[in-house]
Formats: sequence, C-alpha cells, structure tokens
Amino acid sequence: MQGRIHSLESFGTVDGPGVRYVVFMQGCPMRCKYCHNPDTWEVNAGTLMDADYIIEQYERNKGFYTDGGITVTGGEPLLQIDFITELFEKAKAKGIHTCIDSSGITFNPDSPEVMAKFDKLMPLTNLVMLDIKHIDDEHHLELTKQHNKNILAFAQYLSDKGVDTWIRHVVVPGITDDEEYLYKLGYFIGGLKTLRALDVLPYHDMGKVKYEKLGIDYPLKDTPPMDKTILLDKKKAIIDGIKARRAELEKA
Ligand code: SF4
Repeated sequence: MQGRIHSLESFGTVDGPGVRYVVFMQGCPMRCKYCHNPDTWEVNAGTLMDADYIIEQYERNKGFYTDGGITVTGGEPLLQIDFITELFEKAKAKGIHTCIDSSGITFNPDSPEVMAKFDKLMPLTNLVMLDIKHIDDEHHLELTKQHNKNILAFAQYLSDKGVDTWIRHVVVPGITDDEEYLYKLGYFIGGLKTLRALDVLPYHDMGKVKYEKLGIDYPLKDTPPMDKTILLDKKKAIIDGIKARRAELEKA
C-alpha cells in the first residue's frame, strides 16, 4: 500500500524517545491557528510512497536508532490509518519501536468500522503522543475548527487499551494559557492510566513564513511568542490538576 507523505526526517530528536526516523504524513482535517505545518493540510498532495520504501530508508541508518524507532506525524497521520497499520506491521516484524504523534481527531467511537481499524493498529503501537489543544470544547472549536469530544475519547481509549501515552499541550498567550482550563486539562489527563509524560510547549511563531509562502493569512499575527519564564507556572497548573485527580482516584 502507498501513503501520501509530506516529508521524511532521518534524525528526529523531538518526536518520541531517542533518535527517530520521522514520517510526516500529508493531510489534516484540523486548522489549528498556531499550526506551523500548514503545508501538510492538503489531503491530496504529498508524495506517494510504499511502506517497504520507508522501512528500507530506516534500515539504512538503523545503527542510529538503537534507543529510538519510527514516528509518524504530520499533518494528521491517522487520516491514513490503513497505511500506518501496514507500516507498523512491517516495523514490528523487525522489532522497531513505533510511535504515533496525533491530534486524535479521526477517532470515532460511534463508528464500528473506525474502531476496528484502531483496534488493529494499537497492538502494533508502542507509544502515542497525543496533542490536546484545549480542554474546553467551545475554545477548542474556535482554535482548531473541530470539536474535542472524540479527541478526549481517544485519550480514554488509549488508557483503557493500555497504550503508553504522552500528552502534549501548546501554551499560546491569551488562547490556551488560562490556568483554570489548564487545571481542568490536568484533571482530565490525571485519570489516564497510561499517562507516561507531559510536554508543555511554548507557542512560537516560526511557522509564519510558511503561511506567507502559501499566501494564507496567519491568524495569530498579533499574538506574541509564549514567554518561557512563565511556562513553568502554566505547567504547574496542569500538574496540580493531575495530582488532584489522582488523589481522588486513590481515595475512591
Ligand atoms: S493538528 Fe497539527 S498539523 Fe493539523 S492543523 Fe493542528 S497543528 Fe497543524
């Protein structure tokens, strides 16, 4: 099977544990205002590649990936779930660690067909890095043009299925930095049994140039980059929420 690939990166260091071969998949149904990869949005663009080709490319440098593996990101990699499943089947046959970096937007517990695909992929997946853009649905819709219900359901599904999960959250001044919501985010993820890490990332505007090149208006042109000195306070609000939820669960 072929997948639509935006690009490949041989030595990724921020997309999962260790040094990783990173596959940027083409296509995304979200429209996050701070997206720094708008060139991955178009579903019918990218280059068609076989799963075998990607595994071959990985194998050429496999000595570098002893603590790493393969990460699929994007775009939204799970838009091409059949391709990812084939790629991960081939990766697992070679003992390669597999990671999905996803927004979770394609998850749909109301669709047996979609669920069958997720149920097939998860046993082949070592780690999911799940971006939760906003815990409040209305704000999530405003920020990404999509609801967060299925994304939160995906997080819970990963917990129920025992799939290791890293949660990522980008803190954007005036948009996702409200500490009450950050606490609520923490409270939600504190209930996940498979939460292994939390990445709280500062918003930056380095993607702006791509918008100019694509001739798209950059929605956050008046938003300053996140002040890293207050990022720790923002992270603390999330951690306080996690602790509160865990304390409640221990008592129950
Ligand atoms: S989910 Fe990721 S790729 Fe898609 S719009 Fe949001 S930030 Fe961009």
